[in-house]
Amino acid sequence: MANALVPGSFDPVTNGHMDIIRRASGLFDTVHVLVASNNAKNTLFTAEERVEMLRRLCADMNDVVVNSFEGLLVNYAQQNNITVIVKGLRFVSDFEYELQMALANHRLNSAVETVFLPTGVEYSDLSSSIVKEIARLGGAVEGLVPDIVQQRLVAKFAARTR
Ligand code: ADP
Repeated sequence: MANALVPGSFDPVTNGHMDIIRRASGLFDTVHVLVASNNAKNTLFTAEERVEMLRRLCADMNDVVVNSFEGLLVNYAQQNNITVIVKGLRFVSDFEYELQMALANHRLNSAVETVFLPTGVEYSDLSSSIVKEIARLGGAVEGLVPDIVQQRLVAKFAARTR
């Protein structure tokens, strides 16, 4: 088998992300969940907060490690003996971007392959941005994110409006 990485912003992690991580954990020897800490995106949660939430949520999966990373994914892959990048696909619009990323990564390191997993049907409309927007406007995010993430979202927006 092989070692894989599951990269993302995870701002915050949703049930859709957890579904992809859990399925990847069943397919590969070791799965590195990588929280992007260097992107230009204005994130709601710090990289440390995102890593901490993911570590708690992945604690029951012995083959999963969670780290934050900055720089090229293929460099992390090479340093950690990883040959597969796992990405979840929701919409056709995901595909265009993800295909471009997969080709770029393959060009940088041809030993690293990208594997796409189709979203779980119940999560196909779920994104971190939608979840944040619902929470920001005071809507219920129950069932969309794990319980601890729900609590953190409520606390975050309560602190902001105080
Ligand atoms: P988002 O697009 O929600 O901000 P990320 O940038 O953290 O999420 O996405 C990381 C990876 O997770 C991407 O490959 C994305 O397609 C995938 N992903 C995000 N949400 C889902 C979902 N609901 N189902 C399947 N894959 C998902």
